[in-house]
Amino acid sequence: MSNPDTFHPPHNEHDAITQARADIVAAIDTAAQQARRSAGDVTLVAVSKKQPQARIDAALAAGHRVFGENRVQEAQQRWAPRRPEYPDLQLRLIGPLQTNKAQDAVDLFDVIETLDREKLAKALVKAMAKSGRTPQLYVQINTGEEPQKAGLAPTDTPQFLQRMREEYGLTIHGLMCIPPAGQAPAPHFALLHDIAARHGIPNLSMGMSGDYQTAVRHGATHVRVGSALFGTRTA
Ligand SMILES: *Cc1c(COP(=O)(O)O)cnc(C)c1O
Repeated sequence: MSNPDTFHPPHNEHDAITQARADIVAAIDTAAQQARRSAGDVTLVAVSKKQPQARIDAALAAGHRVFGENRVQEAQQRWAPRRPEYPDLQLRLIGPLQTNKAQDAVDLFDVIETLDREKLAKALVKAMAKSGRTPQLYVQINTGEEPQKAGLAPTDTPQFLQRMREEYGLTIHGLMCIPPAGQAPAPHFALLHDIAARHGIPNLSMGMSGDYQTAVRHGATHVRVGSALFGTRTA
């Protein structure tokens, strides 16, 4: 227990989020050192989905600029009005994308992490041609091969990456995964790392509130942290 004479609970949301962010950055640092990696090679993606605006404003005030959202419409409503004020904002789509939202996603996001099928690639290419924006694309891999989960099966990945390059002229900047709930995440992180290494793909988006340190030890370049940073989601 903390000594009541010296323990000062954060007196508002701003302090709580500033403190949580510093703690997470320090934990990333430690995990990176353990893996003989540079902490500068790991980016904290603040997952702002379903969080009250006051908490997001607190993160912005603390200097945070990289945010992950899992729904296009929610992200548009939240971020389109704030974009002009924060030109260095980086918005990342981490949720499944329907082809009929491809244009909206290309218009808003800087990184789309959930490319997992050819039909979506086709829609993204068309949307990018129309808007002139070229968000970075990551391919989501269903490392646990869960039938209900989005993402490409690991065995389909080599052919898919080849199609992206040769058929669509797309550069894939990273891979992303969400390990199955209730399983040790490390083997999934290791698998994603292997696939990326085999194909010369530089970025790995993996690790969430419960396992981001493990992900960093396995080579994550982007960890997606929501509740550990902002607190329990509302909505
Ligand atoms: C919600 C979400 C996260 C963040 O989850 P926390 O456990 O709150 O850190 C990370 N990645 C994806 C794809 C998500 O949908």
